[in-house]
Amino acid sequence: MTTSALYDSLLLACRQPGCPLCRVSHDVEYRYLDQFFYSQVNDYDSRVRFRASTGFCPPHADIALNELAGKSLGVAILYEDLLRIAQESLEKGQNLAMAKGKCPACQLHDETNGYLLTDLERYILQPDLQSALQSCAGLCFQHYSLAYDRLRGDKRRQLVAIQLQAVQSLRAELAEFIRKNDYRFQGEGFGSERDAWRRVVELVTGK
Ligand SMILES: [Zn+2]
Ligand SMILES: [Zn+2]
Repeated sequence: MTTSALYDSLLLACRQPGCPLCRVSHDVEYRYLDQFFYSQVNDYDSRVRFRASTGFCPPHADIALNELAGKSLGVAILYEDLLRIAQESLEKGQNLAMAKGKCPACQLHDETNGYLLTDLERYILQPDLQSALQSCAGLCFQHYSLAYDRLRGDKRRQLVAIQLQAVQSLRAELAEFIRKNDYRFQGEGFGSERDAWRRVVELVTGK
């Protein structure tokens, strides 16, 4: 994905639920994994990297297993290769090879997040990103912390203001959710705060 396409994705992600940086990063990795199991099964370099990392890390393997549709053949072929290597080691009475490098999707994750933080630093005071961020659900704690360390002066103050507003707004929704769980108020029914308990976990932990 080009850096300008990544910036456009960031603007769009601000208008959707959850941390916008997590969303863009996840979408990039999802597309990578989708392509990987579809078209890179027979690509020599991809296979070498896949072997070196002994497949994907648990979160990225989880995307492959639970979010990708119809990629079972690619998964079967690539992981069978790892089992073939494992069998060779076992027949020699050796230990199994563990990952020697980062999972390829984690490498992409680091690269994507580097670009996203650069965009945030460069454009946070520009009206389009500023207003998009003001309407977003806030950054997850990890992305916020990385961005905070990177930004200075007015840019940092803007980041803090955006995050403070997101935290205050979610706390108000949580207070309403908790109040309505009291049997005395259950008749009122839930509004937009009905999933605030999920959103707070995502804000704290990221996706
Ligand atoms: Zn995040
Ligand atoms: Zn990974």
